Amino acid sequence: MTSIRSLAGACLAALCALAAPASAQNYPTRSITMIVPFAAGGPTDVISRIVTAHMAQTLGQSIIIENVVGAGGTTATTRAARAVNDGYTLITGHMGTHAASVPLYPKLAYHPEKDFEPIALLAGTPILILARKDFPPKDLKEFVAYVKANAEKVNAAHAGVGSVSHVSCELLNSILGIKPVGVPFNGTGPAMNALVAGQVDYMCDQIVNAVPQINAGTIKAYAIATPERNPSLPNVPTTTEAGLPAFQAQAWNAIFAPKGTSPAIIATLNAATVKALDDEAVRKRLLELGSVIPPVSARTPEALATLVKSEIAKWTPVLKPAS
Ligand code: ASP
Repeated sequence: MTSIRSLAGACLAALCALAAPASAQNYPTRSITMIVPFAAGGPTDVISRIVTAHMAQTLGQSIIIENVVGAGGTTATTRAARAVNDGYTLITGHMGTHAASVPLYPKLAYHPEKDFEPIALLAGTPILILARKDFPPKDLKEFVAYVKANAEKVNAAHAGVGSVSHVSCELLNSILGIKPVGVPFNGTGPAMNALVAGQVDYMCDQIVNAVPQINAGTIKAYAIATPERNPSLPNVPTTTEAGLPAFQAQAWNAIFAPKGTSPAIIATLNAATVKALDDEAVRKRLLELGSVIPPVSARTPEALATLVKSEIAKWTPVLKPAS
């Protein structure tokens, strides 16, 4: 009896062993869900849609974007960490969900390094200091003086504690020594709508969300927090040019799968992402929106793992005292 049972167990194990690589080989046989941890229309959503539309062609299956909002992106990321690791549920994480949240949420239900398999970096996203169109200061120097003088009155929109917009304005505000009222939204898509409508004063946001509005003249851009100007916004000065060199900030967005997803599936998804990043139409769209397309050496899962580790190390000492 025991031997029959163990024989059956062994056969089952053998079948499973056969089945696992076969399913990875055929992957994907159905549509894939890409969780986006913020509202539709924001930078993470826009970048995800541009890249996954091309990946879907390569993979021969649709990729359905599911916007899961809340808690600065950590609600969605917790869900993704707990999803079945079969390659059919992925997440576009970013500098917030996969780095800054670690020091900001002492009870974070996931760890970016332990609970995820990195797939590939999608885009670097420089941060800009933006304000409603009728915010009185006309340049960055005036902005600095104004927010310091009106520290009790001004407010800053963000996408929840731990989001890129929150963390980068925390950095800015700490440099300026001010604590404005924070106005949280489920993403900078809706936060940008509020800025355009003049309902909030300022925001630190990723370039992808800002370019269309700056070009349409619906908001003010004081500076871009990178060493160089961005080709998509040639008239926006750098923070260094505008007199605040201490404020440097660039975020990133990247695809992750739940821990334990098979290496074959990770390789398939990485190859599809890399192919998308080499596609002319995808590149054009990402560049028009000011994103920084990662060089070939930064597109591997290993490079993303290294980035996550270094970003957690970078943000932990900056954000820990504030939490
Ligand atoms: N990336 C977020 C979004 O897509 C916002 C943020 O992290 O600030 O809305």
